[in-house]
Amino acid sequence: MSQEHDGQHERQPGSAELFDPETDPLATYVLEPEDIATLLRRVVSSPGAATHTSHAPFTGAPIAAVPLSTPDDVARAARSARAAQRLWAARSVRERAAVLSAVHDLVLERQSDVLDLIQLETGKARVSAFEEVADIALVSRHYAARARRYLAPRRVLGTVPGLTSTRVLRHPAGVVGIIAPWNFPLTLTLGDVLPALVAGNAVLLRPDPQTALTALWAAELLEDAGLPAGVLQVVVGDGPTIGAAVIEHSDHVSFTGSTRTGRVVAAGAGERLVPATLELGGKNAMYVADDVDVDVAAEGAVRACFVGAGQVCVSIERIYVHRDVFDEFAHELARRTRELRLGTGLDYRSDVGSLTSAAQLATVVEHVEDALGLGARVLAGGVHRSDLGPWFYEPTVLVDVSPHARLFREETFGPVVALYPVASDDEAVAAMNDTEFGLNASIWTADARRGAALARRVHAGSVNVNEGYVGTWGSLGAPQGGWGASGIGVRHGREGLWETTRLQSIAVQHGAHGVLGLPPVGLRRLFDLGTDVWPQVYTELLRVMKAARLP
Ligand code: NAD
Repeated sequence: MSQEHDGQHERQPGSAELFDPETDPLATYVLEPEDIATLLRRVVSSPGAATHTSHAPFTGAPIAAVPLSTPDDVARAARSARAAQRLWAARSVRERAAVLSAVHDLVLERQSDVLDLIQLETGKARVSAFEEVADIALVSRHYAARARRYLAPRRVLGTVPGLTSTRVLRHPAGVVGIIAPWNFPLTLTLGDVLPALVAGNAVLLRPDPQTALTALWAAELLEDAGLPAGVLQVVVGDGPTIGAAVIEHSDHVSFTGSTRTGRVVAAGAGERLVPATLELGGKNAMYVADDVDVDVAAEGAVRACFVGAGQVCVSIERIYVHRDVFDEFAHELARRTRELRLGTGLDYRSDVGSLTSAAQLATVVEHVEDALGLGARVLAGGVHRSDLGPWFYEPTVLVDVSPHARLFREETFGPVVALYPVASDDEAVAAMNDTEFGLNASIWTADARRGAALARRVHAGSVNVNEGYVGTWGSLGAPQGGWGASGIGVRHGREGLWETTRLQSIAVQHGAHGVLGLPPVGLRRLFDLGTDVWPQVYTELLRVMKAARLP
């Protein structure tokens, strides 16, 4: 059975820092009250606004009373963003990219502040919070260096080569609405804000109320990096209350969250005919082939499954293991999982932190109990560690999970992984693809060529060979996005930048009014030939163009 910690549970040395709600200083020592008040003033809200009190997952203690924006506040924020966007878009890409370059330096310089904040608001271990800092440094550097090239106008062949010159331009969409979740409060806010800004958009950012301080900290950092006031507007409120208003006032919507909510957001955007980028759920699979070094694969699996206590869209929840190495791999994964250090410290001494909310804990407990009731066995974990904090759950490895168990198909979004034996590569690929989702996958084999060939057969937007998710996520030039129920559109790379732009084709006809005293040329000369002649002439021209291999 999934258990409560009974005080007798054996942990590996150094694992537990005890939770004491009376004395725990976490809620106060991270930021001074006046710092918090300064950040909260950035929320676009009205006098006497209702507030949301967020709680620190490590302790359950209140963090801050965050003012809530109303739909009218969202409309006001959008108007200000729209006004600021015109001036921002008039700046050169080079100037806008300089802001991103400054963000890179500032986020590294000020990392200890934001690491504290991320840990405070999400309950994740510091090493997981650092992934967010590193990610923002990568994203800002990438787009600072590449935005000009990615946004440059493109020449294409004109209707009548020589007479028509055609260029394809990218314009900013205008105001980009970003509805961000709570699991990666820096990555899933700034990581989407930065490309939208460098493309010349203003941003209407709605962070999750639980993680508003991190987003507000990021807004302050952006201003210090040189972003003009007003270009980024932060509104706070729960999705059902202000989500629709964000969609209503945006020219593009970026949403990260569950598939269920993604459908609601897509419907709202569809109603307004504005595009939406949706990164949704996953049930990401890993395959461990028969030729692996089991130690290497198990180490990678631990990172791929338990970073951020498994509340990571691209983390692994199913592992198909070749039966020749199943027992050895299962033993090694369970051993390494039991060694993970759980803790609440704002330092690098723990590997895994808390789940972020009571709701996430409830899902994890439900999924594990349901699987156990249908015959699953626990190799590691399976314990709610309320001795550490209200929502801690031990990293958990399950085997013998029934296909009828909820976690066989549904995303748990927690520190739980199930192992299934397979007899061949083909069986592994079929099992990996037996899902409505298609976000991320991972393949482990000593033969890189075999891994790459298998990867092409997996239905997912990203596949990592001999890594869990960092390989693709950290390849900033490569798009990252989901197939099927995992979403629409991508972030990262040129394609991620292009999401928040609109295309415009401009074709200029030369010589239509005559040049240097010569009679006018251009399409009109063709049509002047008369309808009985010009189709024949143009037919010949088409043949010539094909013979000349014009595209
Ligand atoms: P959720 O979809 O309910 O919430 C995600 C975010 O969407 C929250 O910030 C919420 O305020 C907002 N939201 C809710 N209703 C909305 C609406 N009608 N319009 C606009 N925004 C709305 O998910 P959750 O229950 O908070 O998180 C659990 C599930 O979410 C997980 O199982 C996982 O699938 C998914 N999730 C995925 C990611 C990711 O990175 N892909 C991140 C967080 C959550």
